[in-house]
Amino acid sequence: MNFWLSEESASAIAAHAIQMSPHEACGLVAGQEAGRADLVIPIPNKAADPRHYFEMEQAALVRAMFDIEQRGLALTGIYHSHPHGDPIPSQTDIRQAYYPDVVSIIVSLKGEPPRLAAWWIRANQVDAVPLVIGPTPPAVSTPEWTKSHRWAIVISAILAVIVMIVISLSLLPPAPKIP
Ligand SMILES: [Zn+2]
Repeated sequence: MNFWLSEESASAIAAHAIQMSPHEACGLVAGQEAGRADLVIPIPNKAADPRHYFEMEQAALVRAMFDIEQRGLALTGIYHSHPHGDPIPSQTDIRQAYYPDVVSIIVSLKGEPPRLAAWWIRANQVDAVPLVIGPTPPAVSTPEWTKSHRWAIVISAILAVIVMIVISLSLLPPAPKIP
């Protein structure tokens, strides 16, 4: 699976990293569906040692989650910066990946220009996610039949319920005769 970032989102993450350097910057990315970032929300880093770690400020994190919800988006990724390192998850990043269903985006300020990389960190396993930065998301594989497929599932579910009602009615014992 690829992860798509709009050019605005990618430069917003890089700009936040540069602004916070030499501290690590962190924040959330949200999208209309999994695998894409339509919105970047910077979150203050309140780690005791912000040059080497990040810890998102709780209140800002909750506000950001509400904001994402209100916009009808989903949390799709978490980003942070490595002011001096490569965009590769550290041992701490792997240990502290609390959200297994979102992509970890790391922006490195080592060298010019900033480099972004995305990773799945799940159960201590790290897999690179190809990052696509461009004006429009890559064609999502939602062919037309998906819609009719969904309808077919709904209709067959309704039919199944009707059949069950008919069967259970036919299995009812006859009404007792009232003398
Ligand atoms: Zn890190």
